[in-house]
Amino acid sequence: MGLFSKDIKSMDDLFVHTLQDIYYAENKIVKALPTMMQKASNPALKKAFETHLHETENHVARLDEVFRMHGTEARGVDCPAIDGIIEEAEEVAGEVEDPRVLDAALIAAAQAVEHYEQTRYGTLVAWAKELGRNDCADLLQKTLDEEKATDKKLTELALTKVNLQAAE
Ligand code: FE
Ligand code: FE
Repeated sequence: MGLFSKDIKSMDDLFVHTLQDIYYAENKIVKALPTMMQKASNPALKKAFETHLHETENHVARLDEVFRMHGTEARGVDCPAIDGIIEEAEEVAGEVEDPRVLDAALIAAAQAVEHYEQTRYGTLVAWAKELGRNDCADLLQKTLDEEKATDKKLTELALTKVNLQAAE
């Protein structure tokens, strides 16, 4: 998409553009999660990252399916937002020495990612319905539900284990 050409002409174009944005983001997250898993010390947190890595691979597959249902080629467009969130996470993680404090930093970073995904999927579900594509909306909703559940799980881990240990 060019800066001076206006390539998004309809709601449908905007829907596809946003699909491409989250497609790029999900692929980035698939690459970032193994590192986060490796950096985490708390076993429950490690496990949560591992579980979500598998879910995230499935989010990419679901997007492939939505593109296919829509009749559009599956591809990503640069998403500076997710690049920024991941870059900041890496920067902060690089500054932390204490493994328990690092766990807290990793949770905070992961929750920023999950919240970004939720805004995108929330919008995509609404637009898919508006465009009369309830089939696409149903698939996108499944992913949205998993992002929400992951965010909730991370909050629980933070409140019950990780932050308490980090503050000791
Ligand atoms: Fe995802
Ligand atoms: Fe996610």
